[in-house]
Amino acid sequence: MKSQFSQEIWTLAIALILGLLGGLALGHPVAGLAMGAVVYIVRLLVQMQRLDHWLLSLDREKKPRLSGVLQHILDRLTKLQRQHELENNLLRASLARQQTLISDVQDGVLLLDNRNRIKWLNRAAEELITLGANRSLGTPIRGAIRNADFHAWLDSEETGRELRFCFDEKSNRWLDASMTYYRENSEKLLVLRDATKLQELEEMRRDFIANLSHELRTPVTVLVGYLETLQMRLESDEPSMRITQEMSLQCDRISSLLQDLLTLAKLESMDGRSTQEPIQIGPLLHQVVEDAPQLAEYRDHEISMRIQDNLWVNSSRTDLLSAFSNLLYNAVRHTPPGTAIKIKAKRKGNRVEVEFVDSGPGIARQHLHRLTERFYRVESSRNSETGGTGLGLAITKHALLRSQGELEIESVLGSGSTFRCVFKAAAEHGDEIANAAVG
Ligand code: ADP
Repeated sequence: MKSQFSQEIWTLAIALILGLLGGLALGHPVAGLAMGAVVYIVRLLVQMQRLDHWLLSLDREKKPRLSGVLQHILDRLTKLQRQHELENNLLRASLARQQTLISDVQDGVLLLDNRNRIKWLNRAAEELITLGANRSLGTPIRGAIRNADFHAWLDSEETGRELRFCFDEKSNRWLDASMTYYRENSEKLLVLRDATKLQELEEMRRDFIANLSHELRTPVTVLVGYLETLQMRLESDEPSMRITQEMSLQCDRISSLLQDLLTLAKLESMDGRSTQEPIQIGPLLHQVVEDAPQLAEYRDHEISMRIQDNLWVNSSRTDLLSAFSNLLYNAVRHTPPGTAIKIKAKRKGNRVEVEFVDSGPGIARQHLHRLTERFYRVESSRNSETGGTGLGLAITKHALLRSQGELEIESVLGSGSTFRCVFKAAAEHGDEIANAAVG
């Protein structure tokens, strides 16, 4: 650039000298000098006009004829242009590659705008929601997917929660959906996966267990009946009595196992379809405690209740009874006689929390996240024959899920456990609760 500038200054100097010499020859040196300057400026203007004209087309084949600094600027511009084109091509190629990749994935991928309209979708998504690409761009996703659970899930904007829903009831087609939110531009990435086969397998598993449990109940009842008769006949035969007593005990265990399996299968098959009604928590908890007097007395536990007035949740009475009694039974069965058990219920913000707190032996940290799995039991309770089936907490979790509730478990080994059921406070009774809390 420096040499271009000195060249440019030389050009100006030559124009001025030539003008001066011409002027001297004609007896007007100042006019000659001015003439030299004008010629230089006109040349510069002409070249600038050529450059400006070329900038409009940026046609590399028809580069303007320039010299000096302007020629240098032109060279720099064409170099930048070439670099820009190269970067553009790389970017376009990588974009095309990514689009092909996303287009070819088996999962349906949809980009939604801030009003949940489809901005872009891949081929798999077109096939899953059965819309042609041209028809689907700009379509509100609610129109393309007409399912109440999906709409509620979309409104809830719960990041991380996946949803399985029935996309088409006629063909029994099920989809799994997950959503990623881009807060900065309010766009969302919706990923859909065909879950029809998984759902079918799940239903088959559920039906199989429900049918098996149902079929086994009759023979077990017959066995229990015969065992009772046998026990009456063998009253004087001590060793045989002990055998039949053990057989009765095991039959009772099988009966409760079958009962729990049936309850769980029933809860699962109705997932998300229970009839919800506003329920007042206090009276329901009193009923749970009253329904289990023999349990409490037998183990000598101290059960106390601290329940705020007017706590309401939208739920199903049977689901709540099942969840709460399981938690109370657990607190009694898995803690030694004399242990204090507190049942607390309170409003916290827009949530209602129901807690079953015991000061029993507690549960080690590594077990906590697995407690709601079917048949998962902590080693100590497996050995100490607490009489449980290992399905109680799985039933509780499902019953709560159906009421949009959640189960939280806290426990410290040696100092007790807290099982907390968390619900959204029932909207139509919100004021009542707030007033009660103030009072
Ligand atoms: P179970 O029929 O064995 O009670 P659950 O699913 O109800 O099955 O509970 C799973 C396991 O969690 C129990 O086997 C026990 O080890 C543990 N557990 C549940 N409640 C308590 C509690 N209150 N205190 C200590 N351990 C508990």
